[in-house]
Amino acid sequence: MAIQSVNPTTEEVIATYEEFTARQIDDALGEAAGAFEKWRRLSVAGRSACMRQAAGYLRAQKERFARLITLEMGKPISQAEAEIEKCAWNCDYYAESAAGYLAERPIQTNARESYVAFEPLGVVLAVMPWNFPFWQVFRFAAPALMAGNTAVLKHASNVPQCALAIEEIFQESGFPAGTFRTLLASSGQVAGIIADERVRAVTLTGSDLAGANIAETAGRNLKKTVLELGGSDAFIVLADADLADAAHVGALARNQNTGQSCIAAKRFIVEDAVADEFERRLTDEVVHLKVGDPMERDTHVGPLARGDLRDGVERQVRMSVNQGARVAVGGQRLSRGGYFYAPTILTEVSESMPVLREETFGPIAAVLRVPDAETAIASANDSVYGLGASLWTANLEQARHLARRIETGVVFVNGMVASDPRLPFGGIRRSGYGRELGEFGIHEFTNIQTVWIGPARGEDRPKPHSE
Ligand code: NAP
Repeated sequence: MAIQSVNPTTEEVIATYEEFTARQIDDALGEAAGAFEKWRRLSVAGRSACMRQAAGYLRAQKERFARLITLEMGKPISQAEAEIEKCAWNCDYYAESAAGYLAERPIQTNARESYVAFEPLGVVLAVMPWNFPFWQVFRFAAPALMAGNTAVLKHASNVPQCALAIEEIFQESGFPAGTFRTLLASSGQVAGIIADERVRAVTLTGSDLAGANIAETAGRNLKKTVLELGGSDAFIVLADADLADAAHVGALARNQNTGQSCIAAKRFIVEDAVADEFERRLTDEVVHLKVGDPMERDTHVGPLARGDLRDGVERQVRMSVNQGARVAVGGQRLSRGGYFYAPTILTEVSESMPVLREETFGPIAAVLRVPDAETAIASANDSVYGLGASLWTANLEQARHLARRIETGVVFVNGMVASDPRLPFGGIRRSGYGRELGEFGIHEFTNIQTVWIGPARGEDRPKPHSE
């Protein structure tokens, strides 16, 4: 089957690739498994040197890679450049911090010496989405490779050029051949790759549907998984919030990457007392967003990445309006070529509407009014997802209490939810499990190995035990 790269701004096919044959996949897995023996024996300092080169390569080729992102999935070019910068930062961050994160941890017991060591697992399969086609891959790859694993990537079918460019970065940065391989594979080929005994673990960033499929196959094969899935993040505005700031950041948090972010603000939950003013301010911010050609530097909102994704957004808005939502702004596709949909705000929404019940992966904000902070937290938690949440209030003491009651993996107070190499990132419920980034992220794909060196000392010598 052919894998096509389609420019969502023009709807033109810009490149076509043949899907890998079973033989090509087998060869790539063989290379990754072979490279593992070499790569794991390299010191952390040696791995860091390669990772720093990758950061340098990303920065040197930033414009070319950013253009590829914009061509293949329509991200506005200035945001695509920022994505490449962030990948380079992540490489540098793990090059710097991995030695500390992977150092042996002494733990005092009755042993002469006991400690925890972190050993790599082997070849890790990454199944990745198109929405941040470089960042999602580097978010996984920098820590996984620094821990001594090797990787094979099955990227989303609509970003094959980005997938091949990422392989090039590792090839050109001193990593042993096979350390990172891109497989131009379809989702139908993934189960066979997971079952291959050379693959030791799997990570998926994508929809909850794909997550359930992959977890099922991995479970049958008893392989470790990390799942970073969808979200329907709440953006909670309490009556004492700085409304100008909240509306400005809220418009960005909803429309960045044309609304196609797992941690985009999707459900705006606003206290009644300030709802009129917040809606007015949010509308004012949204109407000033420039929608257009994503190659132009001042464009804020580009096309959606694929035609079927726009159809999905359109359906969610139509059904919600049929159920009584009011279109404050937008609410329709643009009458031009490309998969454009107008930045939209829906008000008078209720809990049963698709814009609140489902993940909305496009520039659609739904504003729900609530009587008080208690109801706001209950509404925020009324979702099958649990990825991120943003809470806006001047009362930071109250914010600390409320944050702990929000059932998500990430809570930002008076700020936009964002990933950061230094902070663990991930969700609960149908948003997945496991963590990426920070110290927790690098340990996901390691064997957390207990080493006990005797003879035992002192009184608390353990009784002989078979487990
Ligand atoms: P998707 O349709 O689930 O695809 C993600 C990846 O999984 C693609 O490589 C896709 O391959 C593959 N895939 C899909 N179904 C599969 C199956 N049954 N078996 C094996 N592989 C399968 O998601 P998407 O539309 O690309 O991305 C958007 C979703 O990702 C949203 O739900 C978003 O919230 C989520 N996301 C989550 C995070 C996070 O950190 N939590 C970050 C970004 C995005 P094909 O392209 O070949 O179908």
